[in-house]
This record gives sequence, C-alpha cells and structure tokens, in this order.
Amino acid sequence: SEGPAMLRLEGVVAGYGDATVLRGVDLEVPAGSVVALLGANGAGKSTACAVAGGAVAPAAGRVLLDGADVTALPPHRRAREGLYLAPEGRGVFPALTVEENLTLWLPAAADREDVYRRLPRLGERRAVAAGALSGGEQQILALAPALVRPPKVLIADEPSLGLAPLVVAQVFELFGELRDRGVALLVVEEKAGEVLALADTVAFMSLGRVTWAGARAAVDEDRLTSAYLGLA
Ligand code: ATP
Repeated sequence: SEGPAMLRLEGVVAGYGDATVLRGVDLEVPAGSVVALLGANGAGKSTACAVAGGAVAPAAGRVLLDGADVTALPPHRRAREGLYLAPEGRGVFPALTVEENLTLWLPAAADREDVYRRLPRLGERRAVAAGALSGGEQQILALAPALVRPPKVLIADEPSLGLAPLVVAQVFELFGELRDRGVALLVVEEKAGEVLALADTVAFMSLGRVTWAGARAAVDEDRLTSAYLGLA
C-alpha cells in the first residue's frame, strides 16, 4: 500500500556547463516506500540526486517535495522542509566527536540519548572523533539523525560503497525501519545487488533518462540485463 508521492522529479533536464546529463527525468518516490535507482556508471543517477537536493539547478522541469514545488529552494531550505540527503563520503565532520556531530542535527540531549539507545555502539564511542570511526560507523552516524527525527524523504547515493557486507546489511536494515515509519527513500546504486531485496520499486536510468520503472517483483534477470545494456 503506497502513499502519495513525497518526492517527484518532473521532466528534469540538467547538466554541467554545456554538457546535458539529464534529458527529461521523471521519477516519484511514495511515502513509506523504497525506490532503488539503478544504472550504469555515468547514467546520471548522482546528478538526479543533486537536482533533488538542490545542489544542481535544472534547466527545465520541477522538483516537488510533499506536493510543493521546491525547484527554486536552496539545499538548506529543502532540508528544513524534510528532505535528508545522506551525502556521498558519509558527510560527517571527522575532527568533531560523535556527540558533536550529532549535536549539529540534534540539539536536544534527549534526541541524542535516543540515538545511543537505538545504536549502542555509537553511544560507547560518543567522545571519539568521527574520523577515527570505521567507514561503516561513519555511515551509521550520518544516518542516525534520520532515525530519531525521520525526514519526509531520504536520498542515499551509493550507501553500500566501500562498506563491508555486514555493515551494508545494517544500513539497509535502518532504511527498512525508516520505510516502515513512513519515510520515502530513494536509494541509488550502480549494481542491483542487495538493494533489490529492500526495494518496493526499481527505476533504471540510462543516458540521462529513466528507461524503466516498476515493481521490484517485475524485475528479473532478463530485465536487469536489458536495463544495463540500455535496452529497457
Ligand atoms: P556514477 O556512478 O559514476 O556517479 P551516475 O549515474 O551517478 O554515475 P553522474 O555522476 O550523474 O552519473 O554523471 C553523469 C555525467 O555527468 C558523467 O558524464 C559525469 O562525468 C558528468 N558529471 C558528473 N558530475 C559532474 C560535475 N560536477 N561537473 C561536470 N560533469 C559532471
């Protein structure tokens, strides 16, 4: 049972300088569901995330957040409206402690205690510099605020990159928990891999367009092969 679209890209055209990367992207992420955005290297997945988050302004098209047109809003305003972009490179401040990093997003001590209850390992390491954590722990730290203060939309660009399988499983478990709490999740991965088990909907990108989108159950080996070959 899928809710209304919390994030919607409509006819998005975007690029860098003279290079057009997105050639009319339509994509929607309903509340309480996970959309896996897949596609080969260079298809434009990261650029689609950047347009959704506000880092790249589209030349045409619109971005809607919970029905409101946010195309003209800067990233921090979109964040305030409930869009949480879990950045590549984990997005934590390495010189700050775990506690200090959390305080940036969660100024109330009770919210941080809530994080430590849910993620005891972070609690044990609250006084440690974030840069001294493993890549997986940094990823968990970057996602922790979303657990306590669930956003409307969470976008994760290649969250499994460079993480051990066990940590990937833990991150995806957090995503599943957020989905169950009504969050709309857009999870970008180059390879289908483990995200397929989590996804409700799969969207394939090729050459700057979404070439196929549908229920995860409709994705089989043939579909994957033709999608990656750009034949979908
Ligand atoms: P990847 O997995 O490699 O990130 P992707 O599907 O996410 O692939 P994008 O990162 O969106 O694709 O890149 C699409 C195209 O845009 C590529 O040709 C890339 O070289 C180009 N591109 C991406 N970022 C920039 C940038 N900041 N400036 C110029 N060109 C860029």
